[in-house]
Amino acid sequence: MGKQVIIIGGGGTGVSLFSRLSRVPGISSISIVDPNPIGLGTAFGTTEPFLLCNTSVDVTSMDPDGESDLLRYLAARGWPVHRDDFVPRYLVGQYCRERFLEHRREAEQAGVRVRHHTSKARTVTPVGADGYAVELADGRRLTGTDVLLCQGLDRPVVPDVVREHLGNPALSASVYPVDELRRLPENSRVLVIGSKLAAVDAALILGRARHRVTMASRSGTLPAVRTRLRRSERPRLDASAWNGLSPDSPSLDRDVTRLLLAAVARTGNGTALRRQTSTAERLTERLAEELELARTGRAHWQDAIAEIIQAVNHVSANWRYAARAAVLNRYRSLVARYISAIPVRNAALLLEHLSAGTLSVVPRIPQSVTPAPDGGRGWQVKWAGAPDEHFDHIVCATGYHKPVLDRLPDGTLRLDPTAAKDAVAPYVAGDLRVCDPLTGEPERIWVLGGASHRRTAIVNYLNTAAQQSKAVADRFAAEEPEPTSLAGRPV
Ligand SMILES: Cc1cc2nc3c(=O)[nH]c(=O)nc-3n(C[C@H](O)[C@H](O)[C@H](O)COP(=O)(O)OP(=O)(O)OC[C@H]3O[C@@H](n4cnc5c(N)ncnc54)[C@H](O)[C@@H]3O)c2cc1C
Repeated sequence: MGKQVIIIGGGGTGVSLFSRLSRVPGISSISIVDPNPIGLGTAFGTTEPFLLCNTSVDVTSMDPDGESDLLRYLAARGWPVHRDDFVPRYLVGQYCRERFLEHRREAEQAGVRVRHHTSKARTVTPVGADGYAVELADGRRLTGTDVLLCQGLDRPVVPDVVREHLGNPALSASVYPVDELRRLPENSRVLVIGSKLAAVDAALILGRARHRVTMASRSGTLPAVRTRLRRSERPRLDASAWNGLSPDSPSLDRDVTRLLLAAVARTGNGTALRRQTSTAERLTERLAEELELARTGRAHWQDAIAEIIQAVNHVSANWRYAARAAVLNRYRSLVARYISAIPVRNAALLLEHLSAGTLSVVPRIPQSVTPAPDGGRGWQVKWAGAPDEHFDHIVCATGYHKPVLDRLPDGTLRLDPTAAKDAVAPYVAGDLRVCDPLTGEPERIWVLGGASHRRTAIVNYLNTAAQQSKAVADRFAAEEPEPTSLAGRPV
């Protein structure tokens, strides 16, 4: 009997991994654990056609190499699509779902047993010398030889200031699914906490329904604007200097800045970055100028971004976790602005709402939020340094918790941990294998996508997950099939 593989999480990452493992010889069964339909995770499982990817078709593919597989999928179905296009996210969900079903059929025809277990995985415990038991939330227990953790980011961060009001129907803990926002009464006044990608989605959905929206964040800034995010035809970064960067070097920030600016200069015939972006102080002016720069082909920096993401992940893969986190923290606003830039369509709509006065973006977060007095609808919001305001609804667009992984002394990994005194974070090796933190002994457990954040810097990107899936599947393919007695099905 061959390997019995258990994939936990069936979003884009889980499907891209499944598609590859399903063709690796020596695997007899693949079980996918996910409470939701496979392929339809948080980002791409949306049913709202208005929400676009913020990455072009070129990089939004489950295959990181060659022509985009998403491009092939859409073209085969008659979509007039270009590799630079930002397509609706639901199409990527359909793509993931259909590719899963195709590969499942092929795998089953080749004799591989494939199962979808509609539950959440809670723990992964070593059993015997060569296997694991995965405990599910519904009480079942699966056994397998290899476990691949692809849980993604699905637990929204709720700011302290509104946490006590969770459960109140006038508070959305997350932008997604957007049905709650679509159901708001006409002409509502809505506070969106955040000003990054999810907040932009919220502002667009609410703006389309003519609600009045305030986006509030510490930075009070919006992401930059792009017309594409595509892989470079030729490299722009000085790879040998970049790969020599060390988190301990006192000149790290200077070296990073120099290398990034040089890469950007190589994208646009030497045009300096300051001539490709706006320095306007007022947010509306800045957005208008950056939209114009993008529309007229002068935002050359965008053509360095795909290479930069890959280079950041590559160079920092072997840095210590704390060092990587510290460096990334220093570049957080650059990442939010340029790596997570928004498509021109979204920027143009935001500009319309800003110009019409139905949208505002403020550089502050609420000091306190209390239910409106006398049982009235909505919230009273107190700001530092600005008059109190009334809002009918509040939406949190404040990001997602990274998947947590705790290891107990007996080797059990807890995927959804509550406090346990004797649990520690496991060590994740450069090849994404989870290791015993004391001995360094690798388990046959891998982390991919959002779950790999202890080893990979920029995870919230399908292209990163696709590269990881390829590397892990290649590794499986290079191994000799090992006989084992575990059953790989619920017991
Ligand atoms: C709002 C949003 C927009 C995005 N837009 C883009 C974009 O335009 N382009 C891009 O490249 N990337 C984008 N991303 C990132 C994108 O989600 C990932 O790149 C890609 O979809 C892979 O996601 P995933 O499978 O890792 O996670 P998800 O899509 O979140 O899927 C994870 C799955 O794991 C399941 N799960 C979680 N915990 C458990 C558990 N304990 N047991 C079993 N199952 C579990 C969940 O039910 C879910 O189905 C976006 C992310 C978000 C949140």
